[in-house]
Amino acid sequence: MTSARSAFLETLAPHLPDGAITTDANALVPWLVDWRGRYRGRAAALVEPRDTAQVAAVVRAAAAHRVPLVPQGGNTGMVGGATPAMEGDAVILSLRRLNRIRSVDPAANLAVAEAGVILQTLNDAALEQERRFPLMLGARGSATIGGLVSTNAGGTQVLRFGTMRGLVAGVEAVMADGAVHDGLAALPKDNRGYNLDQLLIGAEGTLGVVTAAALRLVPAVAARGTAWVGVASPDTALALLRRLQAQTDAVESFEILPAESLRAVLAHLPDSRAPLGGEHPWHLLIEATASDHEDERPDALLERLLADALAKGLGDDAVVAASERQADAFWRIRDSISEAERAQGPATQHDISVPVPAMPRFMIEAAAACDARFPGTHASGFGHLGDGNVHFHVRAPAGADPERWYAEAAPGVTRFVHDLVTAAGGSISAEHGIGQMKRDELARLLPPARADAMRAIKAALDPLGIMNPGKLVPLVPDELVPLAPGTDRK
Ligand code: FAD
Repeated sequence: MTSARSAFLETLAPHLPDGAITTDANALVPWLVDWRGRYRGRAAALVEPRDTAQVAAVVRAAAAHRVPLVPQGGNTGMVGGATPAMEGDAVILSLRRLNRIRSVDPAANLAVAEAGVILQTLNDAALEQERRFPLMLGARGSATIGGLVSTNAGGTQVLRFGTMRGLVAGVEAVMADGAVHDGLAALPKDNRGYNLDQLLIGAEGTLGVVTAAALRLVPAVAARGTAWVGVASPDTALALLRRLQAQTDAVESFEILPAESLRAVLAHLPDSRAPLGGEHPWHLLIEATASDHEDERPDALLERLLADALAKGLGDDAVVAASERQADAFWRIRDSISEAERAQGPATQHDISVPVPAMPRFMIEAAAACDARFPGTHASGFGHLGDGNVHFHVRAPAGADPERWYAEAAPGVTRFVHDLVTAAGGSISAEHGIGQMKRDELARLLPPARADAMRAIKAALDPLGIMNPGKLVPLVPDELVPLAPGTDRK
């Protein structure tokens, strides 16, 4: 270990409880690889503070000795943001031990949770007070509040409740010089200039360390209705969504998948069956909820509205789940698409968005453009149509050697998809963030005004460059190296 790292740990040790510093190489191993095993790094140590004051002590010591810090929550991120670089000079700062729910206030519809609280734990605590935190994602058993804030996470309820930017009412954070920013008062109105809370949301640990957040709650779900609909095209699907939204505000999920994704899941999942009879080119999973038993039940509401919509040609067939079990079976199909498609062979997967009205056309035309540009590949998209966000996959030609394809062809495919997205006015990262995976593509494609502003903010708030270096912030184009082989592989 270099003298800077040793001096850092010596400065820090009196401020942390026993067992909060780990330098043993074997014990560090699980912290050095990301969820999907795509990124590996090295680190000088792992530190695990238990409260905000201890986090501030870590950051002050890191600033004094110029030691890079890599904040880590549940390590479920998709873009290598929580994995240190291979240089090995960084220290992993785990927030998992900051795991107290400080308050749940059902009257104010607010909870204050520390960074290490797991999403599911927060939801369980809210449910005890007949409330919920309306963010749902597959990693809810591991993802932490600090990670969700720092990646501005979304999920399947963004349509109705927005991303973390809308769900966070205030942030407590340790800034890069060790100062504590306390935004937990959750003021509905506060016009004192730049919004530091919003800067920290989605900053991926590059500006400061989130230690707690005030989170907006909504009434718990009293009843839900879950429907499966067959439609002719994404265009019809969006027209159906617009009609439903004009008639009710109860719809909170609206997911689209092509017939081939459904087929892949049915082949992959034992005991699964198609929700509808007959062939349909596209499928929709729609969920509506009610928080009050006096409202028209959401399943009855969906029955009524879908019957009317189908009569007007906005769908070919529909079924509303008759039980919770059947609703869960519909969701299991949706949640298994990535896994089922992975079982089909190598593919590049792109978490992208375009303006909502442009998405139906993009799904068709971008897929055709990819298929034409890369003969033998096959492209398709599924996901959150109502958010203008789909997971756009390009499957390798049949029989392609996975390692070779990822190394030689995949980076070009990714650049092609990102160019199409940019030309459509969209974003190369809709919900997973930039991390290390998309940083160079961000530098290539982000408009200069926005890229320059990001670099200036980084330089102003983290002048020593100790906060999660190498992540998110785009380098100036001259410093770029070609996209790493295998980039954007899932
Ligand atoms: P980590 O992975 O530990 O860290 C993520 C980033 O945040 C890193 O850059 C890290 O340095 C930084 N960070 C972590 N904690 C802090 C902190 N306290 N202060 C400052 N920086 C911090 N994401 C979605 O948006 N929508 C989805 O639907 C979705 N589905 C998923 C499904 C599965 C099965 C999996 C594995 C992941 C999914 N994700 C999804 C991605 C992931 O769950 C989110 O990005 C989540 O927000 C990461 O939380 P985490 O605690 O695991 O953070």
